[in-house]
Amino acid sequence: MIKKKAYVIGANVSTSLSPTIFQYWFNKLNINGEYGYIEVKNENFDKEICSILKKDGLVGLNITMPFKEKIIPHLTSIENKKARLPVNCISIHGDEIIGQNTDYIGFESACNAKFKVDHTIGEHQAIVLGYGGAAKAIIHSLISIGYSRVMIFNRTFDKIKNLKHVFAENNTNLFNCDLESHTINELPKKIRFAELIINTTPVNMLSDFPKWDIDPNCVGFDVVYRPREGTGFLKHFKPHNRIEGIQMLVYQAAPCFKLWFGKKPEIDEGLFNILYKKMNKK
Ligand code: NAP
Repeated sequence: MIKKKAYVIGANVSTSLSPTIFQYWFNKLNINGEYGYIEVKNENFDKEICSILKKDGLVGLNITMPFKEKIIPHLTSIENKKARLPVNCISIHGDEIIGQNTDYIGFESACNAKFKVDHTIGEHQAIVLGYGGAAKAIIHSLISIGYSRVMIFNRTFDKIKNLKHVFAENNTNLFNCDLESHTINELPKKIRFAELIINTTPVNMLSDFPKWDIDPNCVGFDVVYRPREGTGFLKHFKPHNRIEGIQMLVYQAAPCFKLWFGKKPEIDEGLFNILYKKMNKK
């Protein structure tokens, strides 16, 4: 029987933590699978992905920066197509190449592992810093879970000025959510309203000011996980109110593993300890 194989594809994936995550679950669940990485140059993507998709035993691919949109023409179908999210997970079934987004599942699961919010009671406000691929999945998730106000701040304001229109067009139900676009300059005035602030940019925007009026119960989430301290953004939050990007990485990988290898993997401290050791290595 041919060994089931999966890979992470990106421009800079030689130090990706995904092979470590999958190998940990193969060992735990006694599965004879393979998960590796394939680095692809931007200009060769379309040619190389065609030959990767023909590999013997291929059951799935994780797609990372900068190919989460570029992969779409190579798919035969997309799950949840109307939401128009970037694709980070591909499943192969014979001639079928099915794409989906599991980043938003990773985001939601990482939040649920940290805190529980009853969205049927009261107002719940969140801030998202940045508006790239990760942010689009996270905003979709915040609206779906029931946040009543989502404030987005981006360096390039032009990209977010028609957000309401974009999300409504993507069939995301905005009925109960006030989606706002802001320039970075407005952040000091708005920050105190948020109970969750998510950084999706490679920088710590909060480092520009010494003091921010952040609610002491506010949770900070930095999607950047390399190095371990991310962008430094989490230091503005109390230690028990911090969510590290590595949580999201592990929780987005779990549904991919289940889809490709048929078993739901356990997410435990042992796995995080191995990943922390790797992340601390320069
Ligand atoms: P992306 O599509 O390239 O978006 C990057 C965002 O960051 C854009 O909004 C961009 O603003 C902003 N930005 C870039 N440089 C900036 C700067 N110097 N100052 C202020 N804003 C800046 O990237 P992405 O795919 O969303 O990924 C973003 C980060 O999330 C990466 O570090 C990635 O590794 C991480 N990530 C983590 C996970 C996880 O599982 N933890 C999942 C996905 C992504 P402009 O619009 O102005 O350019």
